[in-house]
Amino acid sequence: MTRTLDVVATEASTCTKCRLASTRTHVVFGVGNPDADVLFIGEAPGQNEDKQGEPFVGAAGQLLDAMLRDIGLDRRTNVYIANVLKSRPPNNRDPRPEEVEACLPYLVRQIALLQPKIMLAVGRIAAQNLLGTDAPLGRLRGRVHHFGERQTPLVVTYHPAYLLRTPADKRKAWEDLKFARSVYQQLTQGAADGHRS
Ligand code: URA
Repeated sequence: MTRTLDVVATEASTCTKCRLASTRTHVVFGVGNPDADVLFIGEAPGQNEDKQGEPFVGAAGQLLDAMLRDIGLDRRTNVYIANVLKSRPPNNRDPRPEEVEACLPYLVRQIALLQPKIMLAVGRIAAQNLLGTDAPLGRLRGRVHHFGERQTPLVVTYHPAYLLRTPADKRKAWEDLKFARSVYQQLTQGAADGHRS
């Protein structure tokens, strides 16, 4: 599977399907363990990610790492992290619809290969684009959505960049992570029970 994921990554690395190809430094494909059960999906690379070619390495990334640690996860060992866009929008503006349209198929192929047991959409842009809705983030949190052909459970939470600006909402993000963990535990427990019966 790593080989097929590499094929998609190589294809994405030379992609010129949108105008961001002309301003990016690196295509930021994803990081983590391709065998992980948990997939985090953010919006798009920022300045640091564009420079280093890895998702969530700036200040927001440090907060995401801390949030992962709080629930016993680590970006290199037991999660995979990707973004809706693989190239940085200039000045970190919101992704444009045509950029999402061009880039989302890479993420869809990535998800099909990774086959996560649960996905977390990090922030409004990721949540809205994955779920095909313009509902506000507050209405999307706190319940289980499903994504794609495999109907993978998907939980929505705040973007760490937002939490850096609004630390009072960190408590709610912690609730989202605990909720996702309980959904995951029920899924894996249910599967284990199924094997035993
Ligand atoms: N914000 C995102 O959504 N993704 C990154 O990789 C970095 C910042």
